[in-house]
Amino acid sequence: MAQLLLDGMPRRLFSCTPTRLASFEDCPRRYRMTYIDRPAPPKGPPWAHTSLGVSAHNALHRWWDEPEPRRTPARAAELLRAGWIQDGWRDDEQSAAARERAAAMCERYAAGLDPARPPRAVERQVATRTEILALHGRVDRLDERDGELVVVDYKTGRRPPEEGEARTSPALALYAFAAERMLRQRCRQVELHHLPTGRVVVAEHTDESLARHIRRAESVAVDAAAATERFAAGQPADVAFPPRPGPLCSWCDFRRHCPEGQAAGPELTPWAGAERFADAGGESTGGRSTGGESTGGQPLD
Ligand code: SF4
Repeated sequence: MAQLLLDGMPRRLFSCTPTRLASFEDCPRRYRMTYIDRPAPPKGPPWAHTSLGVSAHNALHRWWDEPEPRRTPARAAELLRAGWIQDGWRDDEQSAAARERAAAMCERYAAGLDPARPPRAVERQVATRTEILALHGRVDRLDERDGELVVVDYKTGRRPPEEGEARTSPALALYAFAAERMLRQRCRQVELHHLPTGRVVVAEHTDESLARHIRRAESVAVDAAAATERFAAGQPADVAFPPRPGPLCSWCDFRRHCPEGQAAGPELTPWAGAERFADAGGESTGGRSTGGESTGGQPLD
């Protein structure tokens, strides 16, 4: 591992994904239980909306692996059904209803794709370094348009992304930064593709906007590394990594280990985030993180 100097002392680069950095910002206690405590505390049961999000991502990934003549909208639905993840649903009936709605969602989305123009990569690992970060993560899709790379991130959550959300997303900016450096090709455009509605939100980064995101990520990394050092030196866990209770606690995988989180919101059923999707059509709470990591049930998407 490369080293750098901070405060005159040699330090390791902070190895992270965008999801890890977001986790520390959201709640240091959850960060500790996810990334520091070993063995990690047991998580709650799997979430249905996570199953839905991963199933859809996998289907669209596999669709591009098909030979071109088989890249039809109907094939996207078949792939969704074939790879459907059953975890977290109330019962078989709810799971089957959600599966069929997700199949229709993938079919609609695939109908808008050109099977003859495959992306540069799907589920692509990207990685790079700064003076502080050893950054890595997985991009849902990397397109190549007019000689430049475009980061595409799929969303399956209930709420369509708002204008400006692609620009402010730290994860998308870090992926663009890493992809450009790793593949030595300009990558400034980032896009959120909301599968339930087909809404696409686009942003074009500049040198300055990417630099701002990198500076912020480095600042979070320095804080997380300092907390980890203080904890290792004997500082109490809740001082080094204080809880940050809020509305998202009901979706936290570690709520059962967190009295503050239990007080902050009610316990939810594993299918709560996808109930509307299964029963009313086309909406879930989300639940698939960037970077290929689970963020717990929290609807960060
Ligand atoms: S329940 Fe809330 S406060 Fe507790 S660890 Fe999870 S996010 Fe943090």
